[in-house]
Amino acid sequence: MRDTFEVRRYDGSGRLGTLRVPRADVTVETPALLPVVNPHVQTIDPSQLESTFGAEILITNSYIIHRSDDLYEPALEHGLHELLDFSGAIMTDSGSFQLSEYGDIDVTTTEILEFQRAIGSDIATPVDIPTPPDVSREQATSEWETTLERIELAESVDTGEMLVTAPIQGSTYPALRERAAREASETALDIFPIGAVVPLMNEYRFEALVQVVAAAKRGLSEDAPVHLFGAGHPMMFALAAALGCDLFDSAAYALYARDDRYLTVQGTRHLEDLSYFPCECPVCSTHDPQEVQQLDKDERHRILAEHNLAVSFGEIRRIRQAIRGGNLFELVETRARGHPALLDGYRTLLDYADQLERTDPVSKDSFFYLSAESARRPEVDRHHQRLRRLDVPDELLLTTGEPSDAFEECWRLIPPFGPVPRSLSDVYPLTAELPDRLDDAAYESAVTGIRTLVDANPETKLTVCHDGWPERALDGIPDDVETVRIDESL
Ligand SMILES: [Zn+2]
Repeated sequence: MRDTFEVRRYDGSGRLGTLRVPRADVTVETPALLPVVNPHVQTIDPSQLESTFGAEILITNSYIIHRSDDLYEPALEHGLHELLDFSGAIMTDSGSFQLSEYGDIDVTTTEILEFQRAIGSDIATPVDIPTPPDVSREQATSEWETTLERIELAESVDTGEMLVTAPIQGSTYPALRERAAREASETALDIFPIGAVVPLMNEYRFEALVQVVAAAKRGLSEDAPVHLFGAGHPMMFALAAALGCDLFDSAAYALYARDDRYLTVQGTRHLEDLSYFPCECPVCSTHDPQEVQQLDKDERHRILAEHNLAVSFGEIRRIRQAIRGGNLFELVETRARGHPALLDGYRTLLDYADQLERTDPVSKDSFFYLSAESARRPEVDRHHQRLRRLDVPDELLLTTGEPSDAFEECWRLIPPFGPVPRSLSDVYPLTAELPDRLDDAAYESAVTGIRTLVDANPETKLTVCHDGWPERALDGIPDDVETVRIDESL
């Protein structure tokens, strides 16, 4: 059992938790965003990350410090917290990114872990091999084997109170990611970054991203804190959080700012394309885009970075509140409507409804049916599973209207759930709020519920009474079930 991470509340696979970082003597609330701080170029001072944006944890690169004539000695002498002027938790990367960019680095896992400990890192990273998407299976497997050796080596290094990460690689092969996660989970290491997914995010390949993350989650134990490494764009935080990612790190706030790009939860805008700032943060409330364009480069980049951070931290808070309020799916659904690529991600997420269902709370305050995708949420799947286990009389009326005396027992018929015993109709999620004008998916899902009930109770004589359901949905009702439209007489 890992005692550093505690889950307080779930919504789907998304969770509110706390990560205890013993070396920094702080407890970080998750989901958390770790701003990436370049030890050489600080667009926003780490002390301001803490005081203005509420950052409890940041990430910097120990390899850059190790290589730097200016920073190596001061880091060893004063420690990272003093060097960066940051009192929260500091995580360090190892040079794996440089390895993926330049093909070679000149430190070993043992050396860089010992260096990370010597400079006072609170969470250290071994040198894993970040295998990009779409390589051959052979390459993905052999590079992962090297990563696993490094992780096992990291386990044997004396790292004291410092937490150490066990990165999960495996390219775009879900089975390999799952296996990599299982092996990592079996070590005594502390935090589990899902690595080398940045190219998927940069290319908006959210379907592949969801497949990779869902696979890694299947391999990990429930008490494993998961870091989606390099995930810095707020448009996808909610989607990743719903899959059970706890930590995000953002270099994007600064990198995008330096390219005059403006982050929003619906994607990226270029400063020159904006006539108005669609945001309530202090920067956007007191400036307009034309004014910011006129500023000198450094000032412009700093201001854009401040907005980018504000929107990123704002989204993290929104996600935390959504998990607490039990409406994370509604938030993901809203985000999915902001960009077609995210809609692909959300539809893929719902392919894993059974996986999400395992930790999804039995009761929440409300279920909003917002689109055809809502019919595929884990709560609907769970109700269909429950239909297999319910006691059913010999004769049963399922109706969208009023109960009829002509039947021994009447159940309600509620899209997208299907048959609902009267005793359950006031129970979440059957209290769902639906639009009056439903899409076919809601009816089709209700018919799936009817079919499930028929399959589990072949002896029962069922009558379905509906208020004008679409033919396409009604076609799915088995032939031996009598189906009556409500304005026709029974
Ligand atoms: Zn703003």
